[in-house]
Amino acid sequence: MITVSEALDLIKTHANQLPSVKRPLRDSYGSYLAEEILAPISLPSFRQSAMDGYAFRKGEIEELEVIGECKAGDATEFEIRENQAVRIFTGARVPDQADTVIIQEHVEVNGGKISIQKMPEKSTNVREVGEQIQAGDQVLPAGTRINESIIGFLTSFGITEVLVISKPKITLIVTGNELQEAGSPLRPGSIYESNAIMLESALKSRGFDSVQLLKVVDDLEATKRTIAYGLESDLLLISGGISVGDYDFVQEALQANRVQEIFYKINQKPGKPLWFGKSDKTLVFALPGNPASSLTCFLIYALSALKIMSGNPDYDLNFQTGVLKHRTFNKFGKTLFILGTEKNGQLEIYPKQASSMLISYALGNALVLVPAEKEILEPGESVLFLPINRS
Ligand code: AMP
Ligand code: MG
Repeated sequence: MITVSEALDLIKTHANQLPSVKRPLRDSYGSYLAEEILAPISLPSFRQSAMDGYAFRKGEIEELEVIGECKAGDATEFEIRENQAVRIFTGARVPDQADTVIIQEHVEVNGGKISIQKMPEKSTNVREVGEQIQAGDQVLPAGTRINESIIGFLTSFGITEVLVISKPKITLIVTGNELQEAGSPLRPGSIYESNAIMLESALKSRGFDSVQLLKVVDDLEATKRTIAYGLESDLLLISGGISVGDYDFVQEALQANRVQEIFYKINQKPGKPLWFGKSDKTLVFALPGNPASSLTCFLIYALSALKIMSGNPDYDLNFQTGVLKHRTFNKFGKTLFILGTEKNGQLEIYPKQASSMLISYALGNALVLVPAEKEILEPGESVLFLPINRS
């Protein structure tokens, strides 16, 4: 059985970034840039007035004749003499011959003339060409995650398409005869199927929108067929059927589909029977069916692989350090992932921790890592945790 860090290393070894693809900028939120972006134009691309006022040639003359008007969107050119000005508004193109804009609050208007009350410095209120960025300069490096600010910024250059790393296509297969869809009274011996919707929500909330959901009963042939279909995706997640019971067919069905095993079983709790493997183009995680095990293996392992595939350079688990409020035991000699609530760095651990239970996951905001070699953790001791269920 391998350790948590060995498992993470194997995932890093086998997960590869997907090919790049051109996407409309509008549909690129959350993707990672596959190439650097250079400014196709300078911003601003022409000299703009930063204020409503008058454009003129700065000199000694304080009485100026207003010879015309430039509003936003106009491109009129003016011959401006030293005793002349042009009425101008924010965002409008400053005529070539003007070098300064005086704000309207600093002039007195008399008919077709203005008198300057407070002479500005030369160049005041003129946004120079390329003040924000010059054409040809780097706007963003490759590997940048596209967010709303970036979508706005790139559009201000007129960009409509970006080259990004593809997002993985995911298939999620849920196995189990006992599973019943929520929405009707529970049949005797059945339980409501909850892993599919939980994992689908976990994926979609992280921007992995391409999720196909398949369900299969505990039958070898049906499991083989469903897996064959799921192997068309970039990543296949399977829930349940990976343990050693007589009706656990997932491992055999994966072998029949020539999926190469990379590891099976990690020295951890919950989530020991995680199976990870690879076929030609697909990474496969067979997650244990117990809900807390499934979610833990998804958050720790499958998500790391998905980040690497989608080009997220920040794929390492982002553990933080907190301080335990009370004594905590680890009787198992395994790495424990236990649920608690973190507030101001203080961690309160919940009493109910079992692979079959989601109660503590549902209440908690911290997944705390207890090292395998630690039998007792004292109050005040520092531990690592992953923030969960936040935003
Ligand atoms: P398995 O990994 O298939 O042996 O399932 C382990 C436990 O998790 C059993 O108690 C199952 O009933 C339960 N389980 C498996 N799949 C699901 C699921 N999709 N939703 C809720 N519980 C499940
Ligand atoms: Mg099962």
